[in-house]
Amino acid sequence: MAVPRKKTSPAKRGMRRAHDFLTAASYAECANCGEPRRPHHVCASCGHYGDREVVAPKAAVEEIDDEAA
Ligand SMILES: [Zn+2]
Repeated sequence: MAVPRKKTSPAKRGMRRAHDFLTAASYAECANCGEPRRPHHVCASCGHYGDREVVAPKAAVEEIDDEAA
């Protein structure tokens, strides 16, 4: 394994760590229901992506399960 010849100076270490931070997750409002959703992701509450429903929302799936049982 390669071993560093010199100890990393506090300044160099600080320069490296300058980019070590977390950023808040971005969100956008769903055009259909207004709930916050992640950009470029299907809405978790209504199942819409863009202007159409692509997956059944969780509440609707539970209703179907109730009818079947
Ligand atoms: Zn939605």
